[in-house]
Amino acid sequence: KLSERLQTVASFVKLNARIADIGSDHAYLPVSLAKNNQISFAIAGEVAKGPHQNATHEIIAEGVQKIVSSRLGDGLDVISPEDQIDTVVIAGMGGTLITQILERQKNKLKGVTDLILQPNVGEQSVRNWLMHHDYQIKAERILKEDHHIYEIIVAEQGKTPTYSEKELLFGPQILQTLPNNIFEEKWQAELQRVKNAMSQMQRSQVVPEERIIKLNHKATLIKEVLTLED
Ligand code: SAM
Repeated sequence: KLSERLQTVASFVKLNARIADIGSDHAYLPVSLAKNNQISFAIAGEVAKGPHQNATHEIIAEGVQKIVSSRLGDGLDVISPEDQIDTVVIAGMGGTLITQILERQKNKLKGVTDLILQPNVGEQSVRNWLMHHDYQIKAERILKEDHHIYEIIVAEQGKTPTYSEKELLFGPQILQTLPNNIFEEKWQAELQRVKNAMSQMQRSQVVPEERIIKLNHKATLIKEVLTLED
């Protein structure tokens, strides 16, 4: 059974999709989708040997090797044109790593209409990448599981709107769900982190002014969105 986080990711995969799950680890996501007859084909991509072996074992143990292919390789390298992949899933990594993976082999994304991304941190850089590469954010989720707050960003190829600074930081679709307890918890904690960082800097001898200005600005954005909420 999938975690709530992966279950939510899975809920955005379209029926009969051909997916590449990059950084699949145990391949739980594609195996579950295959067992439920939700997908036509999947690649479970892994850059590390151990997780790649875990994926291979899981696929065989669950008897879905006709549908799910376990491949060792860096990022989108594991995708070939013959695979006709239409959906790329990247979950459980930092946002910067996710954008690096997408950016490094952009040519592999030509036929990819759907991206389902679950950054653990750095959601802003993921949204910024999407905006600059003609992917429109169609849906977002924020959820809490095992004391962690996760965001899921679902995008489709097409004309890109320009997102405001606030939308990039908080999520254009998540902003539509306010007031939202989990959102509030996440950004209250982030505001506290920003405040701590600022007071630490003010105590230090050399004050990097640019950094302070940036943090101050972020604190202002967070305060604005949190007051809008109540
Ligand atoms: N996607 C699963 C999930 O969300 O539960 C597993 C997430 S796991 C924390 C991250 C996985 O990404 C690791 O198994 C790691 O080896 C893999 N990974 C990291 N960088 C990668 C890359 N450039 N290409 C493919 N896999 C990568």
